[in-house]
Amino acid sequence: MLLGAHCSGGIKASLDRAEEIGADAVQLFAQSPRAWRFPEHERAQLELFASRLEQGPVRAALVHALYLINLATPNDEIYEKSATTLASTVDAAAGIEADGVVFHVGSHLGAGFEAGLKRVIPAMERALDRTTDQTWLLMENSAGAGATIGRSVDELAVIFDHLDGHPRLGVCLDSCHLYVSGIDVTDPAAYAAVLDTVDAAMGLDRLRALHVNDAEAPLGSNRDRHANVLEGQMGEQIGVFLAHPAVQDLPAVLETPGKDGHGPRAPDIEVLRDLYARWKPKKRASARGSARAARTRGSSAGRAGARRTRG
Ligand SMILES: [Zn+2]
Ligand SMILES: [Zn+2]
Repeated sequence: MLLGAHCSGGIKASLDRAEEIGADAVQLFAQSPRAWRFPEHERAQLELFASRLEQGPVRAALVHALYLINLATPNDEIYEKSATTLASTVDAAAGIEADGVVFHVGSHLGAGFEAGLKRVIPAMERALDRTTDQTWLLMENSAGAGATIGRSVDELAVIFDHLDGHPRLGVCLDSCHLYVSGIDVTDPAAYAAVLDTVDAAMGLDRLRALHVNDAEAPLGSNRDRHANVLEGQMGEQIGVFLAHPAVQDLPAVLETPGKDGHGPRAPDIEVLRDLYARWKPKKRASARGSARAARTRGSSAGRAGARRTRG
C-alpha cells in the first residue's frame, strides 16, 4: 500500500510537500480549489512532475478535481463549466502521468436521479476520452447528503453500466463517506460486502484508490466532516479499511484536517503508517498484487517494484 496525503501546492509544489512529510503517494489539485479558472500548465512543468514520480520517493499521484464541479446539475452554465473543467483536469493529470483523476459525480439538486444521470453520462464521456492507460477517471463515493449521486457502490455501478464499463473508468472509496452513508467499514464483514459489491458490479481491478479519513459525524449521518485518523468516530477500527487483501496495492491518502489544522503533515503520516503496520494482512494477496505490478508503468520496473515492497 502506498500511504500518502492530499497536499497543497498543485503541480508545482505538491510533490515537495509530500516528500517533506514522508508520503509515498500524493493527491493534489491541478488548479486553485476555489475558482473555476483552469491554468495553462507548462509542458516542462508537467514533464518534471512525471519524471519525479517515476523516480520516487513519491510513487503515486492522484489529481482531485475541483469541488465546484457538478456533472448532474440542471443548471446549463454550471454543467458546461463542470464538464470542461473535468476534461481539462484529466489533460493535466495525464500530463503528469498521475494514476487517476478523482471526482465527485455531483448533485441533481432535486431534479431526480434519472435526470441527473442523463447529464452525468455525456460529461463523463468527454472526460473519459482524455484518459490514458496510466491516468484513469475515478468516481468517488459521496457522503450521501442531499441529492448527491454516488452515495453507494450500487449508484456508481449504474453510471459504470451506462458507460458500458469504459476500460479507463474506476472508483475511489472514501472511508468517511462510506461511514456517514451508513456503511460501517470498521466492521470487517460490512467492508468485505462493499468490496464484494464492487467486484460483482465492476470488477475489483476498478478500485484504484482509497481516501483514509476518520469521520467526525456518526454512522449514517450523511455529514461530510473528516476527522484525523484515530480521532473520530471510527478510531482504531479504521484499520479495517486498510486491512483487506484486495486493497493492498492501492494508493491510500489522507484528506484530514491534520494535527495542526492545516492539512496532513509528517505526524499524520506517522499515525497512518503505524495504523497500517498494526492492521496489514500477514500474507499478501499475490494474484492481484502481481497483476497490478505488471500493469503499472510498463516502462518502470522501479515503480512496479516499489508497489510490491514498500510499507
Ligand atoms: Zn475523499
Ligand atoms: Zn469528504
